[in-house]
Amino acid sequence: MCEICYRSPCDPRCPNAPQPEAVFVCKSCGEDIVEGEDYYELDGEHYHEECFKDEAVSILEDKYGAEKGVAEVEAYFDDE
Ligand SMILES: [Zn+2]
Ligand SMILES: [Zn+2]
Repeated sequence: MCEICYRSPCDPRCPNAPQPEAVFVCKSCGEDIVEGEDYYELDGEHYHEECFKDEAVSILEDKYGAEKGVAEVEAYFDDE
């Protein structure tokens, strides 16, 4: 049993706990995406779930041409 957290295996917050294994590298923040973490994959790139949510709009704008507009009464939508 661990002498710091008194658990076996260690509590994940314990300094003696083994570091979880990095599985992917986040395209957004460059940090490891480790075993057990939620992630998103897009076009072969991996993102932390949080990073993906933060980046989703800019990803859609950059990769897929999403455009933000301000709705106006006279707005005329000819494509889409
Ligand atoms: Zn421990
Ligand atoms: Zn990230």
